[in-house]
Amino acid sequence: MHVVFLSLGTNLGDKTKNLNDAINQIERRVGSVKAKSAFIQTEPWGFKSENTFLNAAIKVETILSPIDLLIQTQRIERDLGRISKSINGEYHDRIIDIDILLYFEDGNIIGDGLHIESPELTIPHPHMNERDFVTIPLKQIL
Ligand code: ADP
Ligand code: MG
Repeated sequence: MHVVFLSLGTNLGDKTKNLNDAINQIERRVGSVKAKSAFIQTEPWGFKSENTFLNAAIKVETILSPIDLLIQTQRIERDLGRISKSINGEYHDRIIDIDILLYFEDGNIIGDGLHIESPELTIPHPHMNERDFVTIPLKQIL
């Protein structure tokens, strides 16, 4: 089993429901959710919006490879109703965003885990350490 840490965010609609729906889908399609942070309210980062965010981090056990994990989390985003993607680093309001923070192969939780740099996937997530909305929930479950 691999161990992965995911960041969840939403700033539209029923935000608590959006996070819970995402976690339920992850449990069904990614693997067993082993830890869940509190849901924290944060301000939009990198763009202007009236809509504050609700963020969380979760720890999941999965047999999925990193790329299959990305495919599944993007399917879940789509199924929960996410329409637009961030293009050229431009951010928008979103029903749900699921980002892959850290990936530890075979349950070996050492250092910051697997390093991947490809056009569609960078792990560890490049900006995770600069963003309180990622680090605060993540610290609760590491
Ligand atoms: P953001 O999360 O920055 O708001 P998106 O969710 O729209 O942006 O994702 C944009 C692209 O980022 C995705 O199509 C995906 O291929 C890529 N990406 C690269 N690294 C990661 C990662 N660690 N987790 C999630 N997506 C990633
Ligand atoms: Mg994302």
